[in-house]
Amino acid sequence: MPFSKLGLSAKVLAAVKAAGYLAPTPIQEQAIPHVLARRDVLGIAQTGTGKTAAFTLPMLTMLEHGRARARMPRTLILEPTRELAAQVQEAFEKYGAGQKLTVALVIGGVSFDDQDTKLTRGVDVLIATPGRLLDHFERGRLLMSGVELLVIDEADRMLDMGFIPDIERICKLVPFTRQTLFFTATMPPEIRRITEQFLHNPVRVEVSPPATTVATTTQLLAKTGREPHEKRDTLRSLIRSAEGLTNAIIFCNRKREVASLQRSLVRHGFSAIALHGDMDQPSRTAALDQFRKNEVTLLVASDVAARGLDIPAVSHIFNFDVPHHPDDYVHRIGRTGRAGRPGTAITVVAPAEQKNVAAIEKLIGQSIPWMGQPPRPPSQGEQAPSSHRNRHNGQRRHSRESAPRRDQPASRRNDENRSRRVAKPAAQADNGHLPAFLLRPVPAKA
Ligand code: AMP
Repeated sequence: MPFSKLGLSAKVLAAVKAAGYLAPTPIQEQAIPHVLARRDVLGIAQTGTGKTAAFTLPMLTMLEHGRARARMPRTLILEPTRELAAQVQEAFEKYGAGQKLTVALVIGGVSFDDQDTKLTRGVDVLIATPGRLLDHFERGRLLMSGVELLVIDEADRMLDMGFIPDIERICKLVPFTRQTLFFTATMPPEIRRITEQFLHNPVRVEVSPPATTVATTTQLLAKTGREPHEKRDTLRSLIRSAEGLTNAIIFCNRKREVASLQRSLVRHGFSAIALHGDMDQPSRTAALDQFRKNEVTLLVASDVAARGLDIPAVSHIFNFDVPHHPDDYVHRIGRTGRAGRPGTAITVVAPAEQKNVAAIEKLIGQSIPWMGQPPRPPSQGEQAPSSHRNRHNGQRRHSRESAPRRDQPASRRNDENRSRRVAKPAAQADNGHLPAFLLRPVPAKA
């Protein structure tokens, strides 16, 4: 079905044309007519499926009529991280260029005053992280009684980050009669409960089964030794030998590891930058911009900081650590193979992490091939720590990263801060055989 048949306004269709989109993606085709018909929508879709436009485009169409009142946003979009919130704002700028809508971003880590000034003037679209939104509300600077449409995006990530109580509170503060659009990549029981409580007779739109990986992504496992320096050696040789690598995101389980790995890569002559939740907002934005503009080749990131980021055409994902929770694997590798492009995701596996791989394979319903000979099963002493094993028994973790938990200093926000001893990388740079594009020097950050 072409875009012109979905019921979008002429202005929005012009913006879609200007964006160069030829046809709606499946989630857009299925969701947009229902959103325009004012139905609640439960969208089960991964990032990379075009879900942002699936709610942005009909919202722009509906917002063409009516005006915003002071302190009373007309629509509210909740995002788990500041980066995702900023990305949705960019989508409104891109698709709403021909309209005079006021869009405000209410996220942690930046000044209250500018946000407050905007809210006072009245906003058509308020994009917020839950903590900062409630802070404004508690200060009496914001009324949610005018919200006609509520979008809850990346709901399963909200769950992982411990935001569900905030979400429930916000759902009770907005009018009962509002329209709700709810997006999640997976459907764990807690999320199902929320949807049953807060959605009214929703249309369910599912573009790929929950917890599946993108078909265009080649997935591989690379074995490494048990010593931390062996992991870094393995990663460097994987990067050097990766076929068709144009840029890559390297995921670590802990923020601390992100910073030290990035410094180590730079010391070894690679062009790398860090992105994790303990960095202040300007540094995060700057890091992301440099990566987007291809000024740096490697982005070393933690899960939450990188979640849902729209970075078109990432050729490779490296999991420096096997994620503790299998859902994270799906989200990480969803950063490549986007919009039908080919991608490669390579997971570095130390002996103690093999158990975590088994849990991932179970979740995605396929086994991931090893590069070279598969390793022997780990001996007793090399098993994953018991805390990780517990998670595989169905326990979910709570907030792991700094994205916007209120009332907590960044350093206490989550367990990515737990220190882990890492061996010092070789002092000698071993960049003799690096291709030129990997060598662009970038000062160590973080
Ligand atoms: P999202 O899943 O919202 O993060 O979108 C993933 C990417 O798909 C973004 O770079 C969008 O610009 C792009 N995109 C969204 N809709 C379309 C479309 N209909 N055709 C082509 N690309 C699209």
